[in-house]
Amino acid sequence: MVKCQACRTRFAEIVESDESESHPYVLCSSCYNRLINTTLRPLEYFNLKAIHGDTPSLSEYLYDENGVALKPSEEVVHKDSLAFPKLENIKDDCEMLISYSILRWNWDEEAIYALEKFDKAEILFSLNRRINENRELSDKIYDLASIVLGPYADDWIRAEWRLRDKKYFYVYAEALARCLPVSEGFYYFTEAIHESEKDDFYFGNISSLRVFQYKGTLDWIENNVPKDEKDISRWSLAAAVSQLDWARVKKWISMGPPLGIIALDCLVYCIASSMPREEAFWKNDPPAILHDPDTIENMNEVLDSYTTKDDNKNVKLLIETLKKNWHLILHQEKQEQEGTEVTE
Ligand SMILES: [Zn+2]
Repeated sequence: MVKCQACRTRFAEIVESDESESHPYVLCSSCYNRLINTTLRPLEYFNLKAIHGDTPSLSEYLYDENGVALKPSEEVVHKDSLAFPKLENIKDDCEMLISYSILRWNWDEEAIYALEKFDKAEILFSLNRRINENRELSDKIYDLASIVLGPYADDWIRAEWRLRDKKYFYVYAEALARCLPVSEGFYYFTEAIHESEKDDFYFGNISSLRVFQYKGTLDWIENNVPKDEKDISRWSLAAAVSQLDWARVKKWISMGPPLGIIALDCLVYCIASSMPREEAFWKNDPPAILHDPDTIENMNEVLDSYTTKDDNKNVKLLIETLKKNWHLILHQEKQEQEGTEVTE
């Protein structure tokens, strides 16, 4: 008989789905009651979440990151043996470390470090098994592969890529960028964008180009942004972290909208990147940096020239703001502060 997925001690009696018939919960009657009453204990939550991912019954609204029930419909009966796993107790257990890593909302560096000590073949075997059992886990699994396996997982990622959903494929971006040579991963990703429809997924895929941090992204944007594009933020988010240099900004500004306004928006991202990272929603993104700047005087002249190509009032205000904030765009304050800290 099969063991219960939550307690892993009693035999399973109930097979129930709340979202997908392809990977239902397989539970003993006690754990099933706790699932529907939102009274799972932390270890039961951990065991179940590692298999099922973000399902409605295990959502972040019902349990916190450590498996504590937030809205139990009756009292949760705690037991020490059912506490959430502590990292120091699972450092020698590859399977538990993988579960722990994919459950955290942000990557836990200590867990990743512990996982990197295991044989890559063992990790890949586990990731492949987990994704075949439940493809809903794909975003976390591919990201984990990109972090701990890198080029070791190249053939696996090529094979997984062939199984992708034709719309929702930005979950592959990190793995394509880090497990394959970047030019190869970028080629696959942009070819898939070409073949996709221009819907919400399309814009998600465009902004995911940022994870490649690849100069080719700038050429690709130049050749592919629609001439009448109004929603430029996804394009500029990708461009700002793709080795953008002043020569490119100057070129795009000379071309007028939409590339000109994308170039200005990239400079806004450079300002945003100079702010404290921990407070920002882009804290997990690579920093936006303007490479090879010209003199402030020359750059101001180029910014001013844009007003002859776009007489939008907001654009004029934006240019005035950018001209006052070169120290932030060029991250100069940050560098000075870092220098001061070193000498102290
Ligand atoms: Zn059970």
